[in-house]
Amino acid sequence: MASTRSADCGRFAQLSSKHLSVKPLMSRQPTVNVSFEFFPPADEAMEKTLWESIRYLEPLNPRFVSVTYGADGSTRERTHNVVSRVQRETSLTCVPHLTCIGASQGEVLDVARKYWDEGIRHIVALRGDAPAGTVKYEPRADGFAYAADLVKGLKTVGDFEISVAAYPEKHPEAHTFDADVDNLKRKIDAGATRAITQFFYETDHFLRFRDAAAARGILAPLVPGILPITRFPQITRFAKRCGASIPEWLEQRFEGLDENPDTRKLIAAAVAIEQVHSLQRHGVDQFHFYTLNRAELTYAICHALGVRPGAAAARKSA
Ligand SMILES: Cc1cc2nc3c(=O)[nH]c(=O)nc-3n(C[C@H](O)[C@H](O)[C@H](O)COP(=O)(O)OP(=O)(O)OC[C@H]3O[C@@H](n4cnc5c(N)ncnc54)[C@H](O)[C@@H]3O)c2cc1C
Repeated sequence: MASTRSADCGRFAQLSSKHLSVKPLMSRQPTVNVSFEFFPPADEAMEKTLWESIRYLEPLNPRFVSVTYGADGSTRERTHNVVSRVQRETSLTCVPHLTCIGASQGEVLDVARKYWDEGIRHIVALRGDAPAGTVKYEPRADGFAYAADLVKGLKTVGDFEISVAAYPEKHPEAHTFDADVDNLKRKIDAGATRAITQFFYETDHFLRFRDAAAARGILAPLVPGILPITRFPQITRFAKRCGASIPEWLEQRFEGLDENPDTRKLIAAAVAIEQVHSLQRHGVDQFHFYTLNRAELTYAICHALGVRPGAAAARKSA
């Protein structure tokens, strides 16, 4: 990482001042595509925040926005309501998440059919997490056992575009890193065309996973999932649950800021902008943001990536 950074510095140092006008630098920005993830609100106050965030981010013209789904279908109606309203009232393309757990195959495919009939053509297909307290995941006899099975099932309903999940640091239940890459290959072979990763904070984790996927013959784009840090203890909790690691340097950056939200926000923006620029230097040109229904940090990171309201038309045609 350090060597890449100094290479970049050298490149810019060689530019003479006449090359440093803002316009040519901006027009050389590579095209970046972004998507934003939201979760269905549980009450009126959360709904207000969600809609303010959607409206704030809308002018950035993301490739799509996605809406999560409770693993056991617990948010079925709420997810559907947000998806329908985004489709109806905004210029955005909305993509629902759908999971296997807690429902029969027929029930899951009924939900998918309803979406198809409403004009939804893209789904994020997931297994979902087993309910809290479950020792070992046991698939339901009449359900889809794993995400790869769900992908196959969705293709019987319609020719959906399907995105799936990937884990740069391995899914916690996978026996080995390679077995997890094999699982991603099964999902792609079943018909998925994009993998969105679990969040991570070390570029090397993503690069190692991308190399392993390429070696396994996975050609579909791997889109890094970026989780801007609003509250550090919350991120630590998420990380523990999903097997992502929190590097020591990151912990140190947020140390002592529990009671200092303004500085915390500045640090969070700096960390995330550093992360996306580091990935960009390694050829990444698509990013998925876990917004947690908050727009401010995501907007700032997009701005740093050159994703701006005025640049929307160019991105759409890319
Ligand atoms: C981008 C993204 C979005 C998400 N959105 C949601 C959401 O909206 N709602 C939600 O509840 N959760 C969501 N999750 C979390 C996800 O549901 C969990 O991480 C879940 O534990 C695994 O889902 P999966 O689709 O990756 O499962 P799978 O791909 O099915 O894999 C699950 C585990 O089973 C293993 N496995 C797969 N097939 C087999 C097999 N045949 N035999 C044995 N083992 C196998 C895999 O290696 C892995 O360890 C999301 C995660 C990501 C990265």
